[in-house]
Amino acid sequence: MTAIELVQGDITRQSVDAIVNAANSSLLGGGGVDGAIHRRGGPAILDDCRKLRASHYGKGLPTGQAVATTAGELDAQWVIHTVGPVFSRSQDRSELLASCYRESLRVADELGARTVAFPAVSAGIYGWPMEDAARIAVETVRAAQTSVEEVRFVLFDERAYEAFARQG
Ligand code: ADP
Repeated sequence: MTAIELVQGDITRQSVDAIVNAANSSLLGGGGVDGAIHRRGGPAILDDCRKLRASHYGKGLPTGQAVATTAGELDAQWVIHTVGPVFSRSQDRSELLASCYRESLRVADELGARTVAFPAVSAGIYGWPMEDAARIAVETVRAAQTSVEEVRFVLFDERAYEAFARQG
């Protein structure tokens, strides 16, 4: 049984085994939580990302998948990078967003991570409505088969925190 915790705050300040990054497929950094993780985690994370691009993901990490790197100077062992779908009104991409959570937990299991912090993937620059992003996140983690003992959703502002808290 995985415990779900909600915290309002900065994910780069969390002390957990693995911090999930809402990356973009280039894996080479971006804005939002991605920028914050690379800034605070230092250059070792980007070095690992570059190696992954060169070895396995020449075209970038596909949407819905997840891959781990060092966490550099963050208070964690790993950063798990996942690429959320850009929100679309004309196409239902919910399954890809659910896949981000499932695949991140699968990678966490492979690593032996017991505590994992997630941001609200796709709910920033990628435009996902927060309420829906929260529902998909919580439902998917609840249904996941994983050895992770604690999933901590780290919500940057009160609006995000409230949306996650409403998922019961
Ligand atoms: P995406 O491109 O997947 O939408 P963003 O990083 O733009 O990713 O946003 C995802 C969520 O992360 C948003 O709710 C945003 O407010 C939040 N966020 C931004 N910085 C941080 C941070 N340091 N810690 C936790 N959440 C953050």
